[in-house]
Amino acid sequence: QYTGPSKEEVRHLRQTFLSPAITHHFKDPVMIVEGKQQYLYDETGRRYLDAFAGIVTVSVGHCHPKVLRAIEDQNKLLQHTTTIYLNPQIAQYAKELTDRMPGNLKVAYFVNSGSEANDLAVLMARLHTGNYDLVTLRNCYHGLSETTMGMMGNSGWRQPVPCGMGVRHALNPDPYRGAFGNDGPRYAEDVNDLIQSATCGQVAAFCAETIQGVGGAVPLADGYLPAVYEMVRAAGGVTIADEVQSGFGRTGSAYWGFQNQEVTPDIVTMAKGIGNGLPLAAVVTTPEIARSLATRSHLNTFGGNPVCCAGGRAVLQAIDEDRCQENSAKVGGYMKGQLQQLQQRHDIIGDVRGQGLMLGIDMVKDRNSKAPATAETAHVMERLKELGILIGKGGLRGNVFRIKPPMCFNMQDADFLVEALDTALCEL
Ligand code: PMP
Repeated sequence: QYTGPSKEEVRHLRQTFLSPAITHHFKDPVMIVEGKQQYLYDETGRRYLDAFAGIVTVSVGHCHPKVLRAIEDQNKLLQHTTTIYLNPQIAQYAKELTDRMPGNLKVAYFVNSGSEANDLAVLMARLHTGNYDLVTLRNCYHGLSETTMGMMGNSGWRQPVPCGMGVRHALNPDPYRGAFGNDGPRYAEDVNDLIQSATCGQVAAFCAETIQGVGGAVPLADGYLPAVYEMVRAAGGVTIADEVQSGFGRTGSAYWGFQNQEVTPDIVTMAKGIGNGLPLAAVVTTPEIARSLATRSHLNTFGGNPVCCAGGRAVLQAIDEDRCQENSAKVGGYMKGQLQQLQQRHDIIGDVRGQGLMLGIDMVKDRNSKAPATAETAHVMERLKELGILIGKGGLRGNVFRIKPPMCFNMQDADFLVEALDTALCEL
């Protein structure tokens, strides 16, 4: 039984004392006061199916008992000292996390957010290569710090101030809306063009999400990363994979999104699902690149604190024990098939895409022009809320549904979501 302030009171407090820059979903916002597994509860006790997981952050399920226990045990023992003293949690966590990485990705840094992780990755890339320029993708999202805002590929998130210099934005290898369809190597040529024409011919790094998240669950065209990684390395640069949304088994077919394109990056950044809701993020790289940061002092006060590390370790265990990757492949694959069937009956569905439990539905007014059905997307999202489902939305024009639930999402949940979407689309 919820006994806190009313929704109206909370709304008033928020309007009065919080930044007007933070927005809420839905005309009549939902207030969420409890979460269990893949379900959220409002102040009246109404249950919602969570298909967005706190923007792809809750990986193994809300209030997972194993993660809760690990945090609670560590909280009682020691909350914080920073890395100036030894503590087993961060050391064991670094080993357990890098054990799950391929190749020579064996050194971990812990920070508190995805933006910080990408900032650090870029700093290391610049120090290691001695180069400055970065190549990122249009339609990308890597954070809102000064550096990462400069990397941003979406005007809606860029403030009109000088930020993150030296960034070149390559053509997005978007199989649905891009100029070259699913031909990854063709898009990769644009990266080569950029390096030759818009830089000194040498770059610090190429950085991309392995499925664009905020951009609307956009996968990279086949064969894109292998071609780009080769070009970037030939130009003296390192490769950064932003796995903030796509990592930890979410794509089902692989533990890391980059493995779907059969490449191994030089630096990997992680956040969101790594902590199942804890403020935890990481950068993993090779010992050689890591050394470049060690010529000066480097510290992150909260990064790798024992409580977050204990939680992060429990998340890794829960992903294994609960077979989250396998479940993402099974339930995500099934749901994608069901959505593709829905697409045959509703012209407004232009594209169903993504992998595992990272799916996108691109809504269009017309399948030939692919004109974005932005207003209809917002309307259907409201209707789904009424039917008991909280789904995400994204893309440059806000016309893509994003389905990225906690990885304990099951077949019945998938059926419920697809049926509710069918109902909402029939009513349009
Ligand atoms: N990278 C990606 C792919 C993201 O989706 C986000 C957040 N949406 C970030 C980085 C930034 O993470 P944070 O908000 O924790 O700084």
